[in-house]
Amino acid sequence: MRRVVMKFGGTSVGVAANFAHAVALAADRAARDERPPIVVVSALTGVTNLLVEWCALPSRREALAARFVSRHEEFAAATGLGPGPVESLLSRWREAAAALAGEAAVHGAARDGVLAFGERCAAALFAAGLAARGVAARAIVAGDAGLVTDERFGAAHPLPESAARLASALGPLREVAVVTGFLGVTLDGRTTTLGRGGSDFSAAIVGAAVGADEIQIWTDTSGLLSADPRVVPEARPVPRLSFAEASELAYFGAKVLHPKTLQPAMERGIPVRVLNTARPDDPGSVITAAAGPADAPWRVKSIASRSGVTAVTIVSTRMLAAHGFLARVFEVFGRHHLVVDLVTTSEVSISVTLDDVARLDEALAELEGIGRVEVRGGLAIVAVVGEGAPERIGLAGHVFTLLGGVGIGVEMISQGASRVNLSFVVREADSDRAVRLLHRGLGLDAEAPAPARAAN
Ligand code: ADP
Ligand code: ASP
Ligand code: MG
Repeated sequence: MRRVVMKFGGTSVGVAANFAHAVALAADRAARDERPPIVVVSALTGVTNLLVEWCALPSRREALAARFVSRHEEFAAATGLGPGPVESLLSRWREAAAALAGEAAVHGAARDGVLAFGERCAAALFAAGLAARGVAARAIVAGDAGLVTDERFGAAHPLPESAARLASALGPLREVAVVTGFLGVTLDGRTTTLGRGGSDFSAAIVGAAVGADEIQIWTDTSGLLSADPRVVPEARPVPRLSFAEASELAYFGAKVLHPKTLQPAMERGIPVRVLNTARPDDPGSVITAAAGPADAPWRVKSIASRSGVTAVTIVSTRMLAAHGFLARVFEVFGRHHLVVDLVTTSEVSISVTLDDVARLDEALAELEGIGRVEVRGGLAIVAVVGEGAPERIGLAGHVFTLLGGVGIGVEMISQGASRVNLSFVVREADSDRAVRLLHRGLGLDAEAPAPARAAN
């Protein structure tokens, strides 16, 4: 029996016109499929940022708390629903905000409890929108539906038992469940959040748990595009991608998907579709195990980039012919929870890139015991993605010739480690220019070639 999970992001639920489209799309599904869709929603656009500021800036709390209330009241009015659906949540918000008002910065479990108000209000509004169209619907906080996580507040990860709990809570429902994205709960009942942009991940967790036929990510672009449209306005939708391609793009900066989204879908082999709420008839992108039909011509599909990258180089003449050097270096990074992205080594040095350097200082003291350490910030990783791309003779030459031609220096290159991604490091200031240049130079602004046909 067919069942889909439909995730609507902040841009879909936080703009009145798009909200109406989103509710209509879910209502339409409910009328057509044997099993009602499960809807996953993010907070209205801008709301999570507002709550993050509320936590960080005690002096602005009063004004921000009031803005949270007016944003939802005005939105409820603009959608024609009126304040009813969010009234009780808003008074709970006022109480929670008053109770924490005197705190310095709010973090950890308390911060996640504050951020949760965004998704909770959005779910209440969406369920009310469906009810107003005569569709049986219920807003459900993900933790109450069984999405249990570890205790890493702000970046929680689901526990394995989530799957069975979600399946038994959501699976049998005959009404549309409108589940809060972004949120989980610890085993002892404290609210967690899954990391910024985490509602996509929520949708995939829920979809995998209930064995959905498809996980739909409804957003403000007509699919996963050949580049970030804010950098390359002429970027085009990529019709088909593999899980591996989409994962690499998400990880290296394609914000349209949270980097963890594809994992649960991949484990259960569930297609993920990226669609445009305002243009629902556009075909969008479909992400499955295979990159495309077997006879599809090879091509680079999309380019992503991520700034705020730091490179750390450890130089040691003792590395020469020594075993265990790399193990020692990575043991230090591992112990300090520093996530390493790109790695290059030479006879006497190793360079790695990191994107979160919050705990770098502690690690540096230890690395200095291994060799001379250099740290360079202000860098960006650019990832050129397409199944088979790195193996393509001539691609690297083409890419670096294009960049060299305009004087963009390349600091580190990683090719061949993955079958789908040729990635390299440039100065942050050069990153957008590099993406635009490659988008044009690799022909991504042109129509995708028609699939190759057998000669007749
Ligand atoms: P939502 O509120 O739907 O979750 P997001 O803002 O999180 O939306 O993600 C959609 C945005 O991601 C797009 O508007 C676009 O600016 C950005 N983006 C970055 N890279 C890509 C890409 N390759 N394809 C589509 N969108 C991208
Ligand atoms: N509302 C959350 C955020 O802004 C989660 C999401 O949008 O996916 O990060
Ligand atoms: Mg998002």
